[in-house]
Amino acid sequence: MWLSLALNAIVTLLNTKALAAPARAPPQDSCGWLAQEWDAIVVGAGTAGIIVADRLSEAGKKTLLLELGGPSYWITGGRERPAWLSGTELSRVDVPGLYLSIFSERSAPTCPSGVVSAFQGCAVGGTSAINAGLYFQPPASDWDDNRDQGGWRSADVQAATERLLARQPSVTNYSQDGRFYLQSGYEAVRKWLVDDAGFEDVEINDEPDNKDRVFGRPAYNYIGGQRGGPARTYLQTALARENFHLQTGARVKYINQVGGAASGVVAEVDGVPQNASLAPNGRIIFSAGALLSPQILMYSGIGPEAVLQDLASASFTPYVSPSQWVVNPEVGEGLFDNPNTFIELSDPTIRSYTYPYADPPPRDRDLYLSSRSGPYAFAGQTAVFFGYVPQRDGSRIGVQGTIGTAGFGDYTGNSTITLNVYGTSGLYSSGRVVLSGGNFTPGPSSGIYYADRRDGMAIAAFIYDIFQALPPSGPESPAADGLTPLNIARNSTVEEIYRYITTWSQYAVGTVNHWSSSCRIGKCADADTKVIGTENIYVVDASVLPPLSVNPQFGAMVAGEKGAERLLATWSAYYAPAGCGLL
Ligand SMILES: Cc1cc2nc3c(=O)[nH]c(=O)nc-3n(C[C@H](O)[C@H](O)[C@H](O)COP(=O)(O)OP(=O)(O)OC[C@H]3O[C@@H](n4cnc5c(N)ncnc54)[C@H](O)[C@@H]3O)c2cc1C
Repeated sequence: MWLSLALNAIVTLLNTKALAAPARAPPQDSCGWLAQEWDAIVVGAGTAGIIVADRLSEAGKKTLLLELGGPSYWITGGRERPAWLSGTELSRVDVPGLYLSIFSERSAPTCPSGVVSAFQGCAVGGTSAINAGLYFQPPASDWDDNRDQGGWRSADVQAATERLLARQPSVTNYSQDGRFYLQSGYEAVRKWLVDDAGFEDVEINDEPDNKDRVFGRPAYNYIGGQRGGPARTYLQTALARENFHLQTGARVKYINQVGGAASGVVAEVDGVPQNASLAPNGRIIFSAGALLSPQILMYSGIGPEAVLQDLASASFTPYVSPSQWVVNPEVGEGLFDNPNTFIELSDPTIRSYTYPYADPPPRDRDLYLSSRSGPYAFAGQTAVFFGYVPQRDGSRIGVQGTIGTAGFGDYTGNSTITLNVYGTSGLYSSGRVVLSGGNFTPGPSSGIYYADRRDGMAIAAFIYDIFQALPPSGPESPAADGLTPLNIARNSTVEEIYRYITTWSQYAVGTVNHWSSSCRIGKCADADTKVIGTENIYVVDASVLPPLSVNPQFGAMVAGEKGAERLLATWSAYYAPAGCGLL
């Protein structure tokens, strides 16, 4: 065993070295990007934006990637971190086990509240720089059975998915010493769902289409025990090209367009508006996320008429006259997020674990620093499960559960863990992006969760069903052998569970911040991702996804690959003028 541990440590070091060698930080120099003309201006260096920018520059397109935030990972120049990482080439973003601290120790990579009324990443990597790294391939049914007309089908995204997995594989075995950590919760939930409820135990990404009553260990996009994602993969190849430039600290306010034909963008840099121009036959690609891409479109005179009217009345944008507008009522419409509930579970065999930011347990700190192993090599999700609830109309509603390592709220005893359970695909409720306040800040409309009773009833029925496989218990009389739900009684009826999960509390109707589906293909954008009614304006991020049965990061990355493929097919002529890459 020690030999294998030592070998693993050597492999880790080699991997770290191999990954470190080609890593490039974004250029600090502005490289005269304002004076040049670009084939493609990509707005947002996030999960999808980095991928589309890399692929366009790879194909010879002179590509400008504009990001409102700053550095995040160490290789991007991120230096925010606790003292125990001193002397390493790690920022807080690189260490998976520091994920949860993003909620308590507010961090520079998160979006300021004045930018968006939600929790998102605003830095190189976007939300992939602050998320847990869960990386689940969506089942084919997510593409084939969703209610959108004209969306991409599973056959359409197959090649893009394969290209993605070649650049960014998924891992289940996150710890470089080959072991799994913090397993008491995993074991207790496995006994409940697999042994007693009859769920199938699967390798989740080995069977992406199997999402009905399955249980398994989470898959992540970590690389060598550190956060992975597009900033560590696609961005590194893009930065090596002369025809690519990433500009951080550049917040795109709106695009210059006449009749839906864009000529460039206006970006605020150090508080000063600056123009970046498209070359003839150029394209603007919005990859600012499902809340912010619709916002910038609206600021650019493209969107629902009433919103454009509000912006015009306040003289908030230059698009004050209806003759300048491209009315597209689907911009921002259909916004989706998972309605979630935290269920606190206790079991005498469980040992809870929290992830301190400043002072990890010395053994765990040393394990991570010496060999990228141990609890800090993952974000603390020990197990995941999926299921569907059939509906009368023949459709089905998806439900996902993710198991953490500690209790929450009033239930933080040493034998407590949290099940985060939420509705996924097939829900009947969705919302839209609304702009509010004097700064027209984007956020979700009210009623985005549970507006349709069938959604809450489906999730309640699922919870009721899995509760039946638990031993009898009550909050005052916990089970001696097995899990006890603490905040929802084990013997609750479906109606009682429905009321609990649809009534706001610190455990229910939370915001998961998995924003997607606000510019759906076939409605807001065409299959090339071009915004309907425009000539050369595209959206490639989670906005174009249907609601998925799994966490959306993988899907957003597929959108990056697929969007680039479709965009490139729209360019008839190929030319590659000299540009400026890494100066
Ligand atoms: C806390 C948290 C945890 C999550 N955990 C997971 C997980 O474990 N697994 C999973 O699958 N999903 C997870 N998600 C969701 C997932 O990370 C996102 O859905 C996905 O990353 C979104 O990708 P995107 O490309 O649409 O947008 P983003 O990655 O958010 O990228 C948008 C980028 O655009 C930039 N931008 C915005 N406006 C402008 C502007 N005006 N000018 C210039 N740049 C701009 C932003 O700064 C950002 O960099 C999580 C989300 C959150 C908030």
